[in-house]
Amino acid sequence: MHFSKLRLAGFKSFVDPTEVVIEPGLTGVVGPNGCGKSNLVEALRWVMGETSAKQMRGDGMDDVIFGGTTSRPKRNMAEVSLVVANEDRRAPAQFNDAEELEIIRRIERERGSHYRVNGREVRARDVQLLFADAATGARSAGLVSQGKIGSIVQAKPTDRRALLEEAANIRGLHTRRHEAELR
Ligand code: ATP
Ligand code: MG
Repeated sequence: MHFSKLRLAGFKSFVDPTEVVIEPGLTGVVGPNGCGKSNLVEALRWVMGETSAKQMRGDGMDDVIFGGTTSRPKRNMAEVSLVVANEDRRAPAQFNDAEELEIIRRIERERGSHYRVNGREVRARDVQLLFADAATGARSAGLVSQGKIGSIVQAKPTDRRALLEEAANIRGLHTRRHEAELR
């Protein structure tokens, strides 16, 4: 699954609409301290369905919305859009009719988040599953934040198993089984 575009508006320090084109191969983001490098990675995590505000370095999920500066007022809405290529048609059946998928998550202050995939409103769970099968997603081992290595070394065996399951590409199976049991 190749991520080709990330668009942000009102998200953390990215108050003005910003588009990042991600070419195939390795992409590096460089810049001085506080310029928003980690915020970009958090935007990726967030649009893939992150539910923990703590993982986003906030107290509540509304903290991802631009909070204002001395010269600019705060916003009441944030939106992140991620375009992924689906040429190999590996997305779950409900999304597999398109060559390209655009996942959009939007949050409004005190009103929570909504998700859309190619314009159609979907559940958070649908987006989480879409990425879980592609060995990526908000909790993916591919996203290594500060302090993560230490926590893996000290992790409980059951938590470490989750990493192995992801490496074996079976993480989506558990979520699906849980969904099936709820029905
Ligand atoms: P470092 O090199 O130190 O890791 P970085 O490039 O990763 O820095 P970030 O942590 O992504 O920087 O960005 C931090 C900046 O984002 C801070 O200036 C912080 O004030 C700003 N910021 C975070 N959340 C918000 C928000 N909700 N509204 C406005 N600005 C925000
Ligand atoms: Mg950083």
